[in-house]
Amino acid sequence: MDKYIGKLLDERYEIKSILGYGGMSVVYNAYDIESKKTVALKILKDEFLENDDFIRRFKNESKTIAVLSHPNIVKVYDVSFGDKIQYIVMENIDGITLKEYIDQQKVISWKEAVHFTVQILKALSHAHNRGIIHRDIKPQNIMLLKDGTIKVTDFGIAKFSDQETRTMTDRAIGSVHYISPEQAKGEATDAKSDVYSVGVMLYEMLTGKLPFEADNAVSVAIMQLQSNPKPLRQINESIPEGLEEITLKAMQKNPKYRYASSNDMLFAIDEFRKNPSIRFEYKYFTDDDPTKYVDAINNIKNSRVDANYGDDFTVSKKGKSKFSKSMSVAVGVGIAAILFATTLILGILTNWFGFGAKDVDVPSFIGQKLTDVIENKDYKFNWNIEYSYDSSKIEGIILDQDPKAYSKKVKENSKITLKVNSSSSKVFVPIVRGKTEDAAKSALRSVGLAYEIVAVEDDTVEEGIVIGTDPQEGREVTINAIVKVYVSKGPKNKTVVVPNVIGKSLAEAISILKSKGLNVSSNVIRENSSKAKDIVLSTNPLPGVEVNSSDIIILTVSSGEQKEKNLSINVDLPASISKEVSMKVYINGVLDSSNSKTIVPAYNTTYTINIKGTTGTKSVVVNLDGQQYRSYEVNFDNESVKVVGSYSYTGAIKNSNSTSTSNNSVSNI
Ligand code: ADP
Ligand code: MG
Repeated sequence: MDKYIGKLLDERYEIKSILGYGGMSVVYNAYDIESKKTVALKILKDEFLENDDFIRRFKNESKTIAVLSHPNIVKVYDVSFGDKIQYIVMENIDGITLKEYIDQQKVISWKEAVHFTVQILKALSHAHNRGIIHRDIKPQNIMLLKDGTIKVTDFGIAKFSDQETRTMTDRAIGSVHYISPEQAKGEATDAKSDVYSVGVMLYEMLTGKLPFEADNAVSVAIMQLQSNPKPLRQINESIPEGLEEITLKAMQKNPKYRYASSNDMLFAIDEFRKNPSIRFEYKYFTDDDPTKYVDAINNIKNSRVDANYGDDFTVSKKGKSKFSKSMSVAVGVGIAAILFATTLILGILTNWFGFGAKDVDVPSFIGQKLTDVIENKDYKFNWNIEYSYDSSKIEGIILDQDPKAYSKKVKENSKITLKVNSSSSKVFVPIVRGKTEDAAKSALRSVGLAYEIVAVEDDTVEEGIVIGTDPQEGREVTINAIVKVYVSKGPKNKTVVVPNVIGKSLAEAISILKSKGLNVSSNVIRENSSKAKDIVLSTNPLPGVEVNSSDIIILTVSSGEQKEKNLSINVDLPASISKEVSMKVYINGVLDSSNSKTIVPAYNTTYTINIKGTTGTKSVVVNLDGQQYRSYEVNFDNESVKVVGSYSYTGAIKNSNSTSTSNNSVSNI
């Protein structure tokens, strides 16, 4: 029987049953007697209570999630970090994980897969817009409600800070199937790393198979770096081509070939939903030689990886420091250690095969629609558009180009002239003012116009809404012309300096912060401290930091419970005594049996006694062979230890200097 079930936590949460197990925690079904609601309670597993990394990760999760508020992200109500138990109180999701659903269904219909993916991307867009990268997107961390609603959970390693040494278990590397190549290499991650993981999940939903499978985690990580996934339609022909293209674009190894953001991927899915027979025909300039990668990696794999796999991974400070920019995922750490040499070689190959080079081929644009070409972010050129007319061809199609396709290499951002088929028929710029950006784009496309979105600050128009166009609405323009669309990005942000509310009561702090126009997160973090209950201990961001006036401030307040302190006394023993001596320690006059023992002072010339307490003083007396030897006063308020009595050990050899108190050191641990 689980030790928490049936217990009442903090006189508030009745723990009923287990909802699920994660890598670092157990999630319980609980009843909140204060709000009379059923909640989910995530408790850090006992084995991680001593582990600062996991505690930091756990605290980080609650802080991160406190700035998120979205229908597709699980809500956090409360967090508590006591000495003995650390927990997060969340909305209780009456559903199953996407992992369980995939296991039940084997393959998910493309319509349903799209429905889920759109919601996941919306949740991620919300987080990415706030600078938060999830970094552990996988079906185990996605909850599914009966009505098909998705809730993304487990922001535990989002923005997880770097550490010098970490150990990990096999269990923690469960997510290796979903991590991006840059994560597997231990490089910096960004929003595109989450896009990659979404791609892998979409692949798994559509085909019922993981793109990369092997019998050990490290081999899977290497496949993330260098294997190409089997095209989806080779596994299931009924998957629409457009959706296959979307999945494979999200899963590109090189982040620059992926969707630039979750929003961009949403946009492509939206296009696909409107027209399921759409073809995107994404182009990637992959002129590197993949077989060379394989050889390089196989060499390392045989010599290093197989030898290392199977143990818990430990990254030594030395090994990691060489590439540790922003190691974020616990799994990345372990694998990165093993892939260290691989990373170096990949780095060399990367330059060698010219990823960084600026010379590119000129692809063939003839026959494509002008709007498709200039919207395609993979084409890094400056366009020069000219028109001519061929009645046998559709309007808006590219008739000719200069330079000709593959005639020569050009630098990125060179000028390319496209000749577009147009009867020079004029169209009117449609009225798009007041519409959303997406609605404006489709209105322009539908009359044959291209667009360029320009974000501008505006105090009156809501963010994402069109303010106007250039040329103006109603003007006659040539078909395929590019219309600038000015979209509001909301009012210019005013900045304020976070006031210092540390030491104030919670209510007072909230009113001060609100008076500055700042928002205060409803999730207040409680920490044990010697301060009275609800006194503010810290703010995030810290006082003095300049923030946007609408930013959210997270407060950490005292739970009112004392933090237990641990002070240590180093007793100097009479070093010249090489016989057994009976030592007895009395704390406040009571014999402390754990520190009372037979010792030979000559072998251990100092003995450390650890004293726990919260406030006030404790007296500690050390007797040797029944005679008082030392007495101390331990003060928990100022965390100090004073020697109040010091006597010679009279059983000692005459003239020994063992009674000296000069090396009697005291330290606070
Ligand atoms: P970890 O961070 O330890 O991996 P997770 O947040 O992924 O923990 O949660 C572990 C499991 O608990 C999930 O896979 C899911 O089954 C269940 N779970 C998590 N959050 C909730 C919730 N809010 N409501 C219901 N069940 C949940
Ligand atoms: Mg999890």
